[in-house]
Amino acid sequence: MISKRASGFTPFIVMDIMAKAEEMERKGEHIIHMEVGEPDFPTPKAVIDAAVVALKNNKTRYTHALGLLELRQAICDFYLREYGVSISPDQVLISTGTSPVLLFAMLALLDHGDEVIVSNPRYPCYQNFILAAGGRLREIQTYPEEGFQYRHQDIAKKLSRRTKGIMINSPCNPTGIVMSREQLQDIARFDAPYIISDEIYHGLVYRDRAHSILEFTDRAFVINGFSKLYAMTGWRLGYLIFPKKFSAVMQRIHQNFMISAGGFIQWAGIAALAKTKTAVRTMIRTYDERRRYMLARLTDMGFVIHVEPTGAFYVFADGRRFFTDSYQEAFRITEKAKVGVTPGIDFGSGGEGFLRFSYATSLENIRKGLDRLERFLKKKK
Ligand code: PMP
Repeated sequence: MISKRASGFTPFIVMDIMAKAEEMERKGEHIIHMEVGEPDFPTPKAVIDAAVVALKNNKTRYTHALGLLELRQAICDFYLREYGVSISPDQVLISTGTSPVLLFAMLALLDHGDEVIVSNPRYPCYQNFILAAGGRLREIQTYPEEGFQYRHQDIAKKLSRRTKGIMINSPCNPTGIVMSREQLQDIARFDAPYIISDEIYHGLVYRDRAHSILEFTDRAFVINGFSKLYAMTGWRLGYLIFPKKFSAVMQRIHQNFMISAGGFIQWAGIAALAKTKTAVRTMIRTYDERRRYMLARLTDMGFVIHVEPTGAFYVFADGRRFFTDSYQEAFRITEKAKVGVTPGIDFGSGGEGFLRFSYATSLENIRKGLDRLERFLKKKK
């Protein structure tokens, strides 16, 4: 018998779209992938070189359960440099991606029935981390015209004795929208025990800058990692920053459930923070060029972009004038137009009528993919 808890885990629909696209590719079809949330750039050479050196130096063992002290210190230095916030290495946990640290944060925070406030739409995995730890979701509907941000009064209404955290994600997947200083300040002022801030898209910002929640409160769990900014999805390296009093429990959780992240991979992480400035700058410039092109084309085709996305590598486009059922439409576009796109419904009912387009693919692919989509939509009319 499968447990009730596991049966309750919701699927990640984008994976079904990818599977469909791959099945078509095996039959010889040419698909343009705009569904995937994964950088198309190779990992910067300095990172690969550091991993090779570490491997040759036999850095192939377990490390401290919280992670290599050198990498934790480098992360503290990074947060000081970038955001002016002081944290210490005993407030940092390194793990195999941000996904596991999200689960560990929930395990450390939630008792059975405790609540976490999440927005609708949101990154689809959040709910499953909360459910896995025995928690409950308190969903708040957000609206396209308001950049899918929480309304202050809606949070105030949902706070209860059981609220353990408010989840935020800026720059956001799926919307690409970056929260302002004022919006973060407003969230930080709530009387909720903790803010859980997913900062994995930090650095991938094309105007102004992203602020860390730690600039406004230390009652926060910050989730960040190397997958996106440093094009390191397959390396599996991420981290959690937490309030000091959680240090011993985070160490205990990690000792038991993961032991540690890979030794040589953590050494490569140090190089990612220290030696990739030029490579990262080039990636950002390229993403931005694609972003502008995609926004112009989608708007031209009749999609509505309510608030300009200035971060991550996604455009969340309102296609309600073309369709109502985003799930069906995403499959139709994949099958008929041969372009992979993610249905808005993957991110919750608040994303219905939308499609998420990723610009983590070449400008040439984006141009071709959008040409195909345009022809498909014209035929529909
Ligand atoms: N948070 C968000 C918002 C994401 O988009 C992703 C990756 N799609 C993750 C967390 C997880 O990233 P990883 O486990 O590769 O660090």
